[in-house]
Amino acid sequence: MKGFHLTTFGCQMNEHDSERMKGMLVALGYGEVQERGDADLILFNTCSIRESADNRFIGHLGEAKRLKAEDPTRVVGVGGCWAQSVKDEVFARFPFVDVAFGPGQIHKLAEFLTSDSLTAQGYFEFEGFPGELPAHRAREHQAWVQVSVGCNCVCAYCIVPSTRGREASRAPHKLVAEVERLASEGVREVTLLGQNVNSYGRDLPVGAKATFAELLAMVDAVEGIERIRYTSPHPKDMREDVVRAHAELASVCEHIHLPLQAGSSRILKAMRRTYDRPRYLDRVDMIREIVPDCALSTDIIVGFPGETEEDFLETLEVVDRVGYDSAFTFVFSARRGTLAADLPDQLPHSVKRERMERLVPLVQRRARERSQRFIGRDMEVLVEGASRTDPARLRGRIRHNKTVNFDGAAGPGELVEVEISSATSTTLAGSERLLARLR
Ligand code: SF4
Repeated sequence: MKGFHLTTFGCQMNEHDSERMKGMLVALGYGEVQERGDADLILFNTCSIRESADNRFIGHLGEAKRLKAEDPTRVVGVGGCWAQSVKDEVFARFPFVDVAFGPGQIHKLAEFLTSDSLTAQGYFEFEGFPGELPAHRAREHQAWVQVSVGCNCVCAYCIVPSTRGREASRAPHKLVAEVERLASEGVREVTLLGQNVNSYGRDLPVGAKATFAELLAMVDAVEGIERIRYTSPHPKDMREDVVRAHAELASVCEHIHLPLQAGSSRILKAMRRTYDRPRYLDRVDMIREIVPDCALSTDIIVGFPGETEEDFLETLEVVDRVGYDSAFTFVFSARRGTLAADLPDQLPHSVKRERMERLVPLVQRRARERSQRFIGRDMEVLVEGASRTDPARLRGRIRHNKTVNFDGAAGPGELVEVEISSATSTTLAGSERLLARLR
């Protein structure tokens, strides 16, 4: 059996693509090895969201070059967004690479590996949804389900539309069939994946259309699925029917990720985010009205070109006003090939750093204040395994997407009731109500 070693960089979409790459390779008779040096096939699934991601990956590629020089029969393959972003120069710059493919061409790797091609091959077409590939899931009771590929937005700082193409939704009946299969394999929680997940269905042909809210209802109806999550939505498509699904469908969890990016309407316009601050806060208010206890998380970019101190203060105001349960915060970095990379008024790193040092403590304080609402409550927890901080305890997640470390006796995949005794900005702690094992 030939061995493969796969290193994954970047987002959940890439993690899921890697699960499918592994499923495909296992179906081809390969076995996964833990050490790159033991592999016949060395693979990378790359990210290109930030320049730093590129540099980190290039470091890893250096080791593949050394291993290929040691044993020229080894095959080196590079997939994902970085490969797509350098598609015209990848083999010239890295002649030891045998196969390169974009995020939409994973299945072509199998074609290359089963062909007797002696020359390097690149596959970079956008062909809509890249086929139904078997997934080698990392988690037994939780699964990603990709509902669409690509993105039709043009956010000024983002490389994704050029590396993943236009939005293409998967047919709802195929999605439901996949979720039914996953449920039959013991999966209890599915996360629906899309670059812009809540614009799902717009491109589907007449007669086969379904909105994202309708898709949520179809998945909710699948026997055995206890929890539905989704990422990443866009505030412009966060419509009332989607929010009502959180209130009305039993398995749609009380957590919404609503990327803000910036609190200033002037900067949001420069980012080409297609919503302004009042519109964003209107979505927040609608969510809080329809699902009062809903957890809200977000993404924020600090230091976008031209961001003034006043603009940044508006970001702090929104963070304080909304009170997010968690937030991913990023320092703006110019990404070659994006509009923002060529904008004037690029800020010095020291200014961006200083603003980040003001933003993070505020995010953490508000998140800590928000998480106090769980103390003293019995919360349903999906058990994921042993606690990462204390092996004598268990780890799981409440429907609000907060991690809980707790004393208990349940096993992975079980739904149990945990009485919450304490809360930090990131995690909760508690004890399982042993007599109240849910299901
Ligand atoms: S919505 Fe904007 S940030 Fe998100 S993937 Fe599309 S272009 Fe990128």
